[in-house]
Amino acid sequence: PFDVVTLGETMALLSAPRIGPLRHARSLDVAVGGAESNVAVGLTRLGLRVAWLGRIGDDEFGRLVHGTLAGEGVDVSGAVVDPGAPTGLMVKARRTNTSTEVTYYRAGSAGSRLCRKDVDAALLRGARVLHVTGITPALSASARDAVDAALAEADTGTLVSVDLNYRQALWPPADAAPVLRRLVERCDVLFATESEARLVLGDPRAGSGADGPSPVELAVQLADLPGGPRQVLLKRGARGAVAVVDGAVYEAPRHHVEAVDPVGAGDAFAAGYLAELLAGSDVPARLATAAAAGAFAVTVSGDWEGLPRRDELALLQLLDADDAV
Ligand code: ATP
Repeated sequence: PFDVVTLGETMALLSAPRIGPLRHARSLDVAVGGAESNVAVGLTRLGLRVAWLGRIGDDEFGRLVHGTLAGEGVDVSGAVVDPGAPTGLMVKARRTNTSTEVTYYRAGSAGSRLCRKDVDAALLRGARVLHVTGITPALSASARDAVDAALAEADTGTLVSVDLNYRQALWPPADAAPVLRRLVERCDVLFATESEARLVLGDPRAGSGADGPSPVELAVQLADLPGGPRQVLLKRGARGAVAVVDGAVYEAPRHHVEAVDPVGAGDAFAAGYLAELLAGSDVPARLATAAAAGAFAVTVSGDWEGLPRRDELALLQLLDADDAV
């Protein structure tokens, strides 16, 4: 059995090496990205056995996704090649040296045609963790159904991990809120940002950053939902993260690194946390690895390429501009 099974859409990722409007980029780097497979690679680098499920097109980008994940040691035996649709694309432009804009070309993509029958029960059997995100249910009705099928298929002993990952480009808040809330009520480990927490909790200030509950209060409210998760991780970018685990509050260490590309920090954080959870580490150790992996991710352009192996975690001290708080 696998330590972690995850499912979702992985796309070809085209990114502009130059800073400025995309039309002046002249060339684009070709890589792959997808929230769930980013987590899968992060976990694999930290020594876990991980399987990724998803659909790819019968095209060069699909072969790139397949080969890249396999090359990183992620099991892709459950990947489905869909001859009827292309692999989705994600385009990353750098308008300034610290900001990244992401555009999707994924409507009708192979990945968004993921469906219930793609969920291979044999892969899920005995898995220690099933990790899903709020992106997959936003892709299509059949992809939403695939997430439901995976959750239903998971063994009673399998921990369910959810990263809400609300994506404004995919669905409006009113559509997302009830679906994300059901994921919160079904999971054991929840990763969320403050604005995602407000969205799920139905706070009218959703996304506004206006005065309201503190991060810890938001995490407690999520944990207190009916069937709510025992472990809530609230991510705050460079301001770190807070956790509420079995009713106790923790704060993650903050690292001061030079951020070149914020995309992928959340996925790195999830990988770090889950890796330590599965290693039997206590909450502070889980948060330490999560925060270190998140900090590593932002120092490298690319969604997952900068993710650390275990023996590299200590290198973070060299990246830290000053001591962790
Ligand atoms: P994304 O969706 O862009 O991948 P996210 O919004 O889900 O990210 P963040 O809160 O940005 O998640 O990042 C996750 C964690 O990574 C943070 O809680 C923090 O520990 C670490 N991190 C993120 N950005 C920075 C930064 N600039 N400096 C140091 N650590 C960071």
